[in-house]
Amino acid sequence: MQQHIESLQKLQTVDLRIRELTEGLERYPNEIDDLKKDLLEKEESINLKETTLSELRTQRDGLESSLSSNQESIKKSEERLFAIKTHKEYEALQKEITDTRKENLEIEDRTISVMAEIEETEAALSEEKENYATLKNQYAEQIAEKEKKIEELEISRKPAEKEKSEILSTIDPKILPLYERIFKRNGRALALAENEKCTSCNMNIPPQLYNEILKQTKLVQCPSCKKILYTKS
Ligand SMILES: [Zn+2]
Repeated sequence: MQQHIESLQKLQTVDLRIRELTEGLERYPNEIDDLKKDLLEKEESINLKETTLSELRTQRDGLESSLSSNQESIKKSEERLFAIKTHKEYEALQKEITDTRKENLEIEDRTISVMAEIEETEAALSEEKENYATLKNQYAEQIAEKEKKIEELEISRKPAEKEKSEILSTIDPKILPLYERIFKRNGRALALAENEKCTSCNMNIPPQLYNEILKQTKLVQCPSCKKILYTKS
């Protein structure tokens, strides 16, 4: 029985290591993906702001060109005023000039507000770009570290699997399903029994059962957590 327990302990040690390796091999690629996704989102936000900025600049250019063409037309109308003969015509042209001036005031207001928006977007964009550059460097380092860990885990996995199959060959096939069931369900399959207690769940072990563990005549499971109990020999 002692032999069985020792083999199961070795199996549990290697199983715990394999589980740690497997978890790392699942976790690190996910973490790398998350970092890449985060960078991509920030890139998209930068692209979006750049598009907005270029639209605002187009809008500003349009307003500026309307303003200058209106100014041109005011200048021409003012020149025409001198050549006008009738009072009615004079008044009509004068009104046209006044309307265009009014329109220009509106254009100027809109230009000012668009320019303010451009300035705001430029400032936000430059801050975002700066943060992105810093983050990109940080993430590149983190990704490289994680990739290195993945590599190390992959290197360690094969010898661990090999060790496991070697240990498995020494284990009585009759007790293996019990071990595997408990390991899968409880995370561990073995627990140390000490001072008539299971050190895993802290449950008192009935004296008769505790004697059986000490005598090592058969495998004994904790009545509470079902782990296979062993004592320090
Ligand atoms: Zn227990």
